[in-house]
Amino acid sequence: MASNLDISKNCRSCRKVGEKLFLKGAKCRTAKCPIEQGLPTPGQHGKKAGSKKLSEYGKQLQEKQKAKLMYGVLESQFRRFFEKASKFKGSTGENLVSLLERRLDNVLFRLKMAFSRDQARQLIVHGHINVNGKRVRTPSYLVKPGDAITLSQRALNKTVFIETIVDKRINIGIKVPDWLELDKKERKGVVLRLPVRSDVTIPVEERLIVELYSK
Ligand code: ZN
Repeated sequence: MASNLDISKNCRSCRKVGEKLFLKGAKCRTAKCPIEQGLPTPGQHGKKAGSKKLSEYGKQLQEKQKAKLMYGVLESQFRRFFEKASKFKGSTGENLVSLLERRLDNVLFRLKMAFSRDQARQLIVHGHINVNGKRVRTPSYLVKPGDAITLSQRALNKTVFIETIVDKRINIGIKVPDWLELDKKERKGVVLRLPVRSDVTIPVEERLIVELYSK
């Protein structure tokens, strides 16, 4: 029998990453989420005395796993992003984070139009999101400067959804990153410029991911 303090199965990922991911089936709004319980995440203190230190390779894998879980990206796409990042000028690791950050599902989440990237993906796949007035159903769509992200008329007509999800979240105190602009009244987001690493506060050491793929 599971007690109330058991970690919900789908919240194990929250523990790995160190933040609430609100994955489908997860219990992030309850005490079953390890973040709610303040449990230590990997890499933090709290390891049992005598337990083996994670190998360098283990650390590299862990960072990659964290990034994949956070952004909800599978291995094949993650690797494609990496290849792309390594072709751009500058640091491959920073380019990789910038590319992940530019995904439309992440942008909706950053604009506070969805509670999670997972929910943002649902909105996109169901055709509720427009970019520059055109419906985009691809969560991995990469935004570029000048793009305007809006809700479809169909989504705007769903007043309960708008009131309980979009407007509720838009008006909480989480800061929208500097590379994006949010028009609360219009429920519209604009991409001002490409994101750089310092725009992104994620608990991932991308350097280790680059080392992993460079073997
Ligand atoms: Zn959780």
